[in-house]
Amino acid sequence: MTYHIITYGCQMNENDSRRIAHLLQRSGFKKASEKKCDFLIMNACSVRGRVVDRIRGKINQLSKEKTLILTGCVLEKDRNELKKSFDYILDIENLTRWHKKVAELEKITDESDYFQVKAEREKPTAYIPIMTGCDNFCSYCAVPYVRGRERSRPEKEIIEEVSGLIKRGFKEIWLLGQNVNSYNKNGKSAFPDLLESVNNIRGDFWIRFTSSHPKDFSDKLIEKMKSCEKVTNYLNLPLQSGDDEILKRMNRPYDTEKYKKTIKKIKKEIPGITLSTDIIVGFPGETKKAFLNTKKMLEEIKFDMAYIARYSPRPHTKAAQLKDSVTDKEKKKRAKELTEVLKKTALKNNRGKIGKRISFLAYKSEKGTTTGKTEGYKTIKVEGDLKEGKFYRAEVIKASSFGLKGKFIKNG
Ligand code: SF4
Repeated sequence: MTYHIITYGCQMNENDSRRIAHLLQRSGFKKASEKKCDFLIMNACSVRGRVVDRIRGKINQLSKEKTLILTGCVLEKDRNELKKSFDYILDIENLTRWHKKVAELEKITDESDYFQVKAEREKPTAYIPIMTGCDNFCSYCAVPYVRGRERSRPEKEIIEEVSGLIKRGFKEIWLLGQNVNSYNKNGKSAFPDLLESVNNIRGDFWIRFTSSHPKDFSDKLIEKMKSCEKVTNYLNLPLQSGDDEILKRMNRPYDTEKYKKTIKKIKKEIPGITLSTDIIVGFPGETKKAFLNTKKMLEEIKFDMAYIARYSPRPHTKAAQLKDSVTDKEKKKRAKELTEVLKKTALKNNRGKIGKRISFLAYKSEKGTTTGKTEGYKTIKVEGDLKEGKFYRAEVIKASSFGLKGKFIKNG
């Protein structure tokens, strides 16, 4: 039997797809192309945006003989809309049980918990879930309804898994969770301590993490980011809106002053850090003035990257009860305006790197060009076929808004 997985979602979904792949491969399934597979699994997230149309479009392109399975963070309403198109709709949180449904896989009994299911991984990058679920109930987001409340994974297990991966040659470790900053928030060892413990693992590797919540971003975490040499100088800190009234409506318990203060501290303690953020445009009640406040924040903070989403109501959420007051056309216009700001600030930041020598991890090497990511998670292209999965140093010779060109100097 063969399988193919299509993922529509974030890094948590990507990581879940690798875990599904691991289970299926352990059970004798072979990976195949979308066209040739027997089982096609769509692992989708419908909690913050509409993927139903994309899924429908994909199903229409597929041949009828396949067994179709839908999983992921899919809302009840979307499941109901899609159920006729799928053979099975299965809960991602019950990963260990649902594969049995697919193929009566009795052999696997040791992986009895969501966190225990391993992922199929491709070097040099490995994603490690450290917590799942969320207690924050942002008014636009359905994660707490789909993934449930926060659950942290024991530190010992995380350390063991990362240590094993480092021994196998993985070089880039992503610690994942819906809100990593609230990892073990009522326990002994919270996220900054976990970061330090992962940093203490012997070996040559980088540590990244996502997602963070500004309300939980502590001084201690900034200290650890600074003192732990393997923690990279990259941070995604979702702002969502630059207007205090809209932040309140979003149930995001921080204001723009607090956010700016945190960013100021981070920039001071970790000079040259790459900053990215998430923004929602067109949230209910977002007036022109409120939108301009967000635009001003982007201009002031000068992000390197922003993931800009147009608001769409998600069932069960509080925001879904509010009037979706901004038209689609206006949402598009606002998203475009922010992208223009971002392009300028990112270009300026990247140009500032010209002439500097930076480390990067080679991802892909073909036809005389190597593509990788810098420590600050910027894409860099370097002439020459360098070995994939290794660290190198390069001098930056050219910059665009979302990429750098470098000249190879030496092994990292
Ligand atoms: S912090 Fe807010 S946006 Fe993030 S997963 Fe939790 S509820 Fe959703």
